[in-house]
Amino acid sequence: MTTGSDTQSSVVLLGTKGGPGIQPGSPMPTSTLVQMGGRTLLVDAGLGATRAICDAGLPLTAIDAVLITHMHSDHVMELGPLLHTAWTTGLRQQLPIFGPPGLEDYWEGFLNAMNYDIALREVDEGRPDFHSLFTIGHITDERPIDLDGVLVTALRNIHPPVADSFALKFQHGADTLVLSGDTEPMPEMIPFARGADLLVHEAMLPEGIQAIVDRMGYDDATRLIDHILRSHSPAAEVGRIAAAAGVGALALNHFVPGHEPGITEADWRAAVTPHYDGPLHVGHDGMVIAFGEDA
Ligand SMILES: [Zn+2]
Ligand SMILES: [Zn+2]
Repeated sequence: MTTGSDTQSSVVLLGTKGGPGIQPGSPMPTSTLVQMGGRTLLVDAGLGATRAICDAGLPLTAIDAVLITHMHSDHVMELGPLLHTAWTTGLRQQLPIFGPPGLEDYWEGFLNAMNYDIALREVDEGRPDFHSLFTIGHITDERPIDLDGVLVTALRNIHPPVADSFALKFQHGADTLVLSGDTEPMPEMIPFARGADLLVHEAMLPEGIQAIVDRMGYDDATRLIDHILRSHSPAAEVGRIAAAAGVGALALNHFVPGHEPGITEADWRAAVTPHYDGPLHVGHDGMVIAFGEDA
């Protein structure tokens, strides 16, 4: 893989765009690879995740588990196609999928949609039983998930009107990573991320929101603007949270707007750095960030 030894903890930002729409030249919706303790975990499976994993130099069959932070399409749309492609690429081992309630409905719908092809390939090509390769479990903030030594703790974040949406903390040995998921700025993120080696936090530039709706030509623009502003985190607030949590490094992700002519990396930095003076990664699709003891 691109990041060196088995013990090196790293994340690959596979898709960094917030929201489901894409355009020529834009980044892709959200998915993130986490590598810790020799395990490869996929967090979210937005459109483009399958291609991005291959572009990161990793076989699809290397994924040990998938976690879905919430059921917005920009985080879950490609889950079925990705796992089906892993299966036709040679996946043999059981692969657990964790997410909020509602994930079962998505999965059942995908199985129904692809029933003809799956049944055909099992018989005609002798592929392993698709259904039994995957298990669905729930993410809850009541108990952590132990993925073969990588401990995953969830914090219910604030992403109205989605009730079941989670930030995730990954711990292995001395290394700690926190992913904010989609959320408005929340004070609870500060103790949750305290002392983490790396915080990957969603980020919004409120001054860029009007441009998004202008381009879409919405009739009821106020409703979309309202949704965006009350369910995401202004970059300045993200800087304040990172500073208060004393994280080792901050990476911005899930950009809203994700692709707006005139908004550059310098604008994101300018919003964050008055409030946070530590290492700052302004994410882009394919960015690899090593963190922890061996970084
Ligand atoms: Zn999102
Ligand atoms: Zn969302």
